[in-house]
Amino acid sequence: MKNKILLCGSKGRMGQAISKIASFHDCEISAPIDQEDNAAEKINDCDVIIDFSLADATFSMAELAANSGKPMVIGTTGHDKYLKQKIIDILAPIPVVWAGNFSTGVNLLFFLTQQAARILDASSDYDPEVLEMHHRLKKDAPSGTADRLLQIIKDSRSSDDEDVIHGRSGIPGERKKKEIGSHAIRGGDIVGEHTVMFAGTGERIELTHRATDRVIFAAGALKAANWVIQQPAGLYSMQDVLGLKDK
Ligand code: NAD
Repeated sequence: MKNKILLCGSKGRMGQAISKIASFHDCEISAPIDQEDNAAEKINDCDVIIDFSLADATFSMAELAANSGKPMVIGTTGHDKYLKQKIIDILAPIPVVWAGNFSTGVNLLFFLTQQAARILDASSDYDPEVLEMHHRLKKDAPSGTADRLLQIIKDSRSSDDEDVIHGRSGIPGERKKKEIGSHAIRGGDIVGEHTVMFAGTGERIELTHRATDRVIFAAGALKAANWVIQQPAGLYSMQDVLGLKDK
C-alpha cells in the first residue's frame, strides 16, 4: 500500500517535483495543500506530512502534525534560530526529518566537510569559506545547506555566529584567524551549488556539489517520508535516513 502524503506547498517548484515522482517511491499525494487550503480538514487522511513551503508557514503545519501525531518531513528553509527552536519544541512528541538539503550528494558533502574540518581545524593554517549559488527567485540567504556547512565548520572550530562573515565589502581589513566566510550568489535558473573551501598557504582544497535538477531533493524527501513513518519520536537528519552519520 502507498504511503499517503499531505504536501504543504504543493503548487511550488518543489511541491510539483514531489508530486511528479511520488508514485515511483510508493507514495501518493492524498492532500495537496497550498496557501488557500485548509490543512486541518485533510490531516486525518494522511500517513505523513511533507513541508516545502515558506518559513512562516512551517510552525502552523508543525502544530497540526504534533496535535494529530503525524510524522513530518521539513524541507522548507529560512527559519531564524528562534523560530526553528519553537518548531523543534512543538514537534518533540513525533518523529521528524528536518533537512536543509535532501540530496544524497549534498549529505555526502556534509560528511566529507565534517572529516575535512576535523583535520583542518582551528590550529591549522587553512581558512574556511563557504560559497553557494541559487536561482534568482530564491528568497533566503545563505541557503539552508550553506547554513549547515557553516555549522559543521563552526562546531569543529568551537566558533560563534559572530565569526561568520557574510560577504565582504569596503575595507574589512585582513582576514581574522577565526573568520569563516559565507557568500551567496543569486541568478538565472541555478538549481543549487555549494563549495566548501579550505584555503591554505600554497594549496587550496575545494569540495563542491552541483545540483542540476530538483528531482534529487524530491526523491530524498520521499525517501525520508517512507523512513520517518517507521521511527520513534525524535528529530532526525537526512544523514540518519542515509546512514551517513559521522563516526
Ligand atoms: P516556491 O516559492 O516555488 O513554493 C513555495 C510554495 O509554498 C508556493 O506554492 C506557496 O504558495 C506555498 N505556500 C506559501 N505559504 C503557504 C502556506 N501558509 N501554506 C501552504 N503553502 C504555502 O518555493 P520552492 O522552490 O518550492 O521551495 C520551497 C521551500 O523549500 C523553500 O524554503 C526552499 O528554500 C526550500 N527548498 C529546500 C530544499 C531541501 O532539499 N531542503 C530543496 C529545494 C528547496
